Amino acid sequence: MPAGQIPYAVILALFMLVACKGEESQAGQPRAPNIVIIFIDDMGYEDIEPFGASGIETPNLNRMAAEGMRFTDFAVPSSVCSASRAALLTGCYNRRVSISGALGPRASHGLHADEVTLAEICKQKGYATACFGKWHLGHHPKFLPLQQGFDEYYGLPYSNDMWPFHPDYVDFPEGTAKRKKGYPNLPIIAGNRVIDSEVSGSDQEQLTTRYTERAVEFIAENRERPFFLYVPHSMVHVPLFVSDKFRGKSQRGLFGDVVMELDWSVGEIIGAIDRHDLTEETLVIFTSDNGPWLSYGDHAGGAGVFREGKGTQFEGGVREPTIMRWPGMIPAGSECGELAASIDLLPTIAAMIGADLPGHKIDGKDIRPLMFGQENALSPHVAFYGYYAGGQLQTVRDRRWKLHLPHSYRSLTASGGGTGGKPNAYQQLEIELSLFDLQNDPGESQNLADKNRDVVERLLMHAERARQDLGDTLSKREGAGRRPHGELAPGDERLVW
Ligand code: MG
Repeated sequence: MPAGQIPYAVILALFMLVACKGEESQAGQPRAPNIVIIFIDDMGYEDIEPFGASGIETPNLNRMAAEGMRFTDFAVPSSVCSASRAALLTGCYNRRVSISGALGPRASHGLHADEVTLAEICKQKGYATACFGKWHLGHHPKFLPLQQGFDEYYGLPYSNDMWPFHPDYVDFPEGTAKRKKGYPNLPIIAGNRVIDSEVSGSDQEQLTTRYTERAVEFIAENRERPFFLYVPHSMVHVPLFVSDKFRGKSQRGLFGDVVMELDWSVGEIIGAIDRHDLTEETLVIFTSDNGPWLSYGDHAGGAGVFREGKGTQFEGGVREPTIMRWPGMIPAGSECGELAASIDLLPTIAAMIGADLPGHKIDGKDIRPLMFGQENALSPHVAFYGYYAGGQLQTVRDRRWKLHLPHSYRSLTASGGGTGGKPNAYQQLEIELSLFDLQNDPGESQNLADKNRDVVERLLMHAERARQDLGDTLSKREGAGRRPHGELAPGDERLVW
């Protein structure tokens, strides 16, 4: 239950006040909030101080939590990069929009042009829009952010390890077939064009700084009009890089240094908002795409009490450290323990700014009652699905119970994670039909399926609904409600670098 016990009527009255205040300055147009989403890559639940990190100072995130709300049960539907981004930006399960896994430089597909992104939602209301960071929803021009509602884009087209120095290939001599099986040079894109065709290690050290500088500049340029700023950082995805500003600053080695630089980035962005007197007109959301990449050991974060990490549908993979700040609207220093999800942001923001929802079906729900601290507000999700491994329906949960359908998953071996940027291999394990009580057993350790057959039956009924609608590769179902991803057609322009 949200800790801020403010009656909803008071919140609505406050909302009207904000709208009226804007009305004066915007010539009759109510001022809807600016939206900023800071999306970290592969950050674990326990990697920042507001969620229990030690040895890594995160003063800006601490301040953001003190001035806003911590969400302690905030989920993504799939614990891998492209799938999670597709869900965030469309308000749909990634399975519905047919994006799974992580797209690489040889992918010829991306998010379909007919999907309506958060940027397009904001465009309806005349927002300035920008994406500074890792896109990862297709790198060919027809799939890039400018074709999905963003006015500006700068960043990497996909993950920063998809380069010739990937640990799986770097040890083979250059020019050999095995090395060539690896990745091409990594480009940086601005707008629709490659502006640097060969990102180096020293370039990677500057990524967090460069994204941040552009974000701060964008806020200054658009301070007089509403804006949507999306900052999907490349860090803390491996390979880890940090600028001189934060090298050696944490007690947790390079990983901690990188987190501290991301915290600095948050401080720069919030500082710009405050400096331009936009504090009470701006919603800032901080979260991550998936949990820690545990096989990288000391170069990965941690998920605290939660089981497993990235690449699994256990809570360590899908529960994200999430903070939202909107002074005057979101109760300061509050906490929400109700289930909310990345797919909820699109319909919630659409409602906040008075934009129309997409004409097609979406899966997210309006979570304003949770955000505004409405007394006794509950999660709007009767059932929430977890899709992994190319479209396997692996989990179904509600506010309290989580059912794992039988599936295989990756887990560390007894030797644990790797060191110094080299991963250790995972082992594949099997989980049988298992029911976990997330309220009393957040670590998903005790299978209570036999003692709670009614709960199992209810969640299985929801699973069957999901299979009809969204399909499931485990049971070889297509799903009537899925939409295709976009494909590169013969005449389409290809990104070359
Ligand atoms: Mg990721």
